[in-house]
Amino acid sequence: MSNPSEGEGRAPRRPPPLLLQWVGPPPSPERPFGLLRLALGREVNVYFLEPFASDFGRAFSLTKLERKDEEPPVYHVLLDGRRSSCDCLGHQRHGHCKHLDSLLLLLDQDQLAGLPAPPQQEERR
Ligand SMILES: [Zn+2]
Repeated sequence: MSNPSEGEGRAPRRPPPLLLQWVGPPPSPERPFGLLRLALGREVNVYFLEPFASDFGRAFSLTKLERKDEEPPVYHVLLDGRRSSCDCLGHQRHGHCKHLDSLLLLLDQDQLAGLPAPPQQEERR
């Protein structure tokens, strides 16, 4: 027996909010990298974020800081409009992931402004 006045008919469960915070100074043109704290629900991780050269879009590597005795996983995120992607398993499976979501959020908040933009290239046809 369940109480019909409770629990049901609510909005479908939402993903927990993604919370981002720089640990230390945010990236700047002189120092184009930073430590990013990424919290999704109860899962909290710190990543070392730095840009790397890409032929198109803007590319960033996120190195997950874990226990020292392990090789840290590195994720490569490309921001390029609808071609944006990440090379982690989650993105390959679901087409989105917290790494890409985080960088899109930072881009949206203009927090990647301190990082060098890619060289402007002529459109090839
Ligand atoms: Zn990812």
